[in-house]
Amino acid sequence: ADVYGVKDWGAGYFDVSDSGEVVITARHPEGPVTVNMMDIIAGINERGLSMPVLLRVENLLDSQITLLNESFRKTIRKLEYKGNYQGVFPIKVNQQEQVIKEISRFGDRYNHGLEAGSKAELIVALAVLNNTNSCLICNGYKDSEFIDLGLEATRMGYKVFFVMEMPGELELLIERSKALGIRPNIGVRLKLATKAGGHWSESGGDSSIFGLTATQLVEVVERLRAADMLDCLRLVHYHLGSQIPNIRDIRSAIRETCRFYADLALEGAPMGHIDLGGGLAVDYDGSKTNFVHSMNYSLDEYTADVIEVIMEVLDEKDIPHPTVITESGRATVAYSSVLLFDILDVNRSEATMEVETIPPDAHELLVSMREVLNTMTLKNVQECYNDAVYYRDEIRERFKWGQIGLRERALSENLFFAIMRRLTENLKKLRRVPAALEGLSEALYDVYYGNFSVFQSLPDAWAIDQVFPVMPLHRLDEEPKRKAIIADITCDSDGKLDRFADFHDLRRTLPLHDLKPDQEYYLGAFLVGAYQETLGDLHNLFGDTNIVGVRIKPEGGFDFVHELEGDSIADVVSYVEYDPKNLVRMFREKAEQAVRDGRISAQDRRRILSVYEAGMNGYTYFER
Ligand code: PLP
Repeated sequence: ADVYGVKDWGAGYFDVSDSGEVVITARHPEGPVTVNMMDIIAGINERGLSMPVLLRVENLLDSQITLLNESFRKTIRKLEYKGNYQGVFPIKVNQQEQVIKEISRFGDRYNHGLEAGSKAELIVALAVLNNTNSCLICNGYKDSEFIDLGLEATRMGYKVFFVMEMPGELELLIERSKALGIRPNIGVRLKLATKAGGHWSESGGDSSIFGLTATQLVEVVERLRAADMLDCLRLVHYHLGSQIPNIRDIRSAIRETCRFYADLALEGAPMGHIDLGGGLAVDYDGSKTNFVHSMNYSLDEYTADVIEVIMEVLDEKDIPHPTVITESGRATVAYSSVLLFDILDVNRSEATMEVETIPPDAHELLVSMREVLNTMTLKNVQECYNDAVYYRDEIRERFKWGQIGLRERALSENLFFAIMRRLTENLKKLRRVPAALEGLSEALYDVYYGNFSVFQSLPDAWAIDQVFPVMPLHRLDEEPKRKAIIADITCDSDGKLDRFADFHDLRRTLPLHDLKPDQEYYLGAFLVGAYQETLGDLHNLFGDTNIVGVRIKPEGGFDFVHELEGDSIADVVSYVEYDPKNLVRMFREKAEQAVRDGRISAQDRRRILSVYEAGMNGYTYFER
């Protein structure tokens, strides 16, 4: 059985082999090639890189760019649309050098460009983008330095669009264009009335902080006309928010946008480009529904709807078909990264002490609690549950007041687990589970400690309860018998994963395998290529993880194509203003003082300092 739903969310890229390991399939034109993830882990181990590791599979990035462009091409041909599609990748979604370079390299064949939302992103884009037929969309609030750089790039032949997010930007753009003698391509960001459901929809819709209202658009047209620059107005843009699960919202936003587009064209602007922003969703839970972690449409439905609606609105007014631009980030890059981590330890919700017999002099509450275990039948499960909770709470209370000791409290914990285990076994045999006990088996879970930081590597899981598919990478031919949540190693009570996709629902626990002595247990958090690297932070000073890029070869097998060492402790302390050399000097003085005080010898000092310095140069995560 597909316990982890990988066939639903894996998009054909991820699956489980007959030998019970997760495999990745690359779709080469010559045919699919499948690689075992445990072979990649073996290669990582041979190279001496410690877990956690962020694995990037370049083929999946290329595949997603291909799918997006080919789907638009197919629809355009089928519907006889007269314009083209030219996508851009929004740098903010994954700014890492290897990712942006690969998008620029592979996207070249499709004239797939970049979107820059800040001066820094423009500076990256100008260096990395090779194809000047690709679009370079400049969003975000722009100062004169940003504008001047974009204008000079226009002079060099780049296809730069300056998107006006706020009315105030226009004056500066007009002034700088005239000063430098360059006619820019100008776009306007719309403030739509359409709203979308989902986590990230705040940046679209009426309440959006960005975009121009209808009144402001009229003012922009007037101002451009007065400056003799209406011929520069060539694009409308909107961004309804990321991860839009419902296709109806997408259709509605395009329709509204086309109405703006048509009327701006009728005002006399040349237009020619319609930029639909991001929003194309990823089916993280595999449910194919309009649930926040999913999407109720396929890529082909998306592209068909986009083109259909544009044709419907513009054909009615005889307005030529524009070039369609989308700024799909999440859908382009999510699949290509997997966070790999090992499990360090497990805390089981299970009796580890002998509970069959209890000491003769035990407290009467413990005797009564033991009785619950003895007298449990299928008929009295509810009563046994109530009694067990009552005795456990009473014992905790008495412990607080010194009437019950540590060992007795420990015994009561074990008795409680034993009762709950037997209860859940009994519940499985019942035809009707009492309503109050329905969630009981979910409440009885183990804690698996994963060698990673939620805050650094899966920040959206913490910040907005985003669900990512998580599963073991091996032993999938064995039934996972434990129910678990996953804690990270930040020692923060929020540093955990306890919401997992379960086809059409969420569950609090994930089925996992018992740890085996002398064998590592590897898990993967999938679909983490979008936003997670950029938004991750240094909570508890856990830094960037090691990064490994692989490319699956058409002839089979894979190559390691890049490798980036994660942050050392010296790196992370320097991010928070310390100078590592200074820290070493300060600690050395403390060790010297300890020698002077006679607490350690000079040899001790030397050894201690080398431990300190090795720590400083080491990985921030648990090293085996
Ligand atoms: N364009 C703009 C202006 C954005 O703010 C964003 C991100 O929210 C995107 C594109 C990318 O959206 P998505 O990742 O949903 O494709």
